[in-house]
Amino acid sequence: MISSAVILQNHHIRPSAQRLVIFDYLRENKVHPSVDSIYQALLPEHPGLSRTTVYNTLELLAKCGLVVPLDFGEGYLRYDGETIPHSHFQCERCGAVIDIMESPAECEKMLPRGSSLSSASLYLRGRCPKCNSAKP
Ligand SMILES: [Zn+2]
Ligand SMILES: [Zn+2]
Repeated sequence: MISSAVILQNHHIRPSAQRLVIFDYLRENKVHPSVDSIYQALLPEHPGLSRTTVYNTLELLAKCGLVVPLDFGEGYLRYDGETIPHSHFQCERCGAVIDIMESPAECEKMLPRGSSLSSASLYLRGRCPKCNSAKP
């Protein structure tokens, strides 16, 4: 895996310690976290971090296409460290967002005949395996 510092430099972003911590977190945790959950996760080990820094860093990374902001209609944005176009499955019980890396050929079958697909990003809802097996 290319180091986060090199990726930031390639996008002309100064790889400050805090930016690297945030970017690393998103690359390693494909859980589509919000600003707040990233902040809460990093705070114990990085007490100098502020919510504003997390927010500003995410905005900067998103502008460069290094993370993808996602709006699931929850009243806040989530951020995706996976930049290859893909679909999402959200659990309506616990809110977990799971990546679905479907093949474009599969999605193309849903289009009217003669159409062509350039990218696919579906939003699917249901219950995750954990919630499905939980007692009511
Ligand atoms: Zn669930
Ligand atoms: Zn995703």
